[in-house]
Amino acid sequence: MNIVLFGPPGSGKGTQAIKLAEKYEIPHVSTGDILRENLKRQTALGLEAKKYMDRGELVPDGVLIGIIKDRLAQPDCDSGCIFDGYPRTIPQAEVLETILNELGKTLDVVVNIEVPDVEVLKRISGRRMCACGASYHILFNRPEQEGICDLCGCKLYQREDDKETAVLNRLAVYKKQSQPLIEYYRQKGVLVTVDGTAEIQAVFDEISAALDTVPAT
Ligand code: ADP
Ligand code: ADP
Ligand code: ZN
Repeated sequence: MNIVLFGPPGSGKGTQAIKLAEKYEIPHVSTGDILRENLKRQTALGLEAKKYMDRGELVPDGVLIGIIKDRLAQPDCDSGCIFDGYPRTIPQAEVLETILNELGKTLDVVVNIEVPDVEVLKRISGRRMCACGASYHILFNRPEQEGICDLCGCKLYQREDDKETAVLNRLAVYKKQSQPLIEYYRQKGVLVTVDGTAEIQAVFDEISAALDTVPAT
């Protein structure tokens, strides 16, 4: 099953993707995590992406194509995967469809996680990340031990782009460049919308219930 988790920055895509990956035993593919990992290793890709990420802008579509192609070609994606943060533009959605088709796969469902701006701002300002991709919140989703990841024991940090200025830009970019995908996928008949304001477990249950009705491919 190939699933896209879609929603504004801070809507809970990463949080849900980790839980869904465990339940459905398919990999979590986060373009944000892949870009941040490249940044950390100072690869050419990471350094190119940094210019855009720091400003809260989208990395150009062309840069993402190679990332997605390489990732989908890996054998652990054979029985599907959970995309988190991709696609974010209509051209990216078209590329994804082409790549999946070439591999004889289909996109089964796009989960649109709805969260209003005020809530998104509260979530992003309190978000603390781990390099493993896990995210926590200083009030809403605290790790067992303050500042330490429950999953891998690493030290948590605040993302550069989660600090004030980039956040408002990321929301504006989402509305302008990403939101049109909702209509795009609705017309394709694969869109499921969930209320992302509920508690983490309740959102997970709602997404799971929706996914359990998707016919196996
Ligand atoms: P995204 O990947 O969509 O940017 P995250 O999964 O990183 O979002 O979640 C953003 C922040 O909100 C994190 O600090 C996370 O712990 C917190 N969070 C996620 N889901 C919920 C929820 N349902 N209720 C409250 N806080 C949440
Ligand atoms: P968010 O919490 O905002 O959903 P992500 O971790 O998914 O954040 O992405 C962080 C940044 O990485 C984005 O603001 C953007 O600069 C870049 N990025 C991630 N995925 C994409 C994508 N599919 N297309 C373009 N840029 C991306
Ligand atoms: Zn971790």
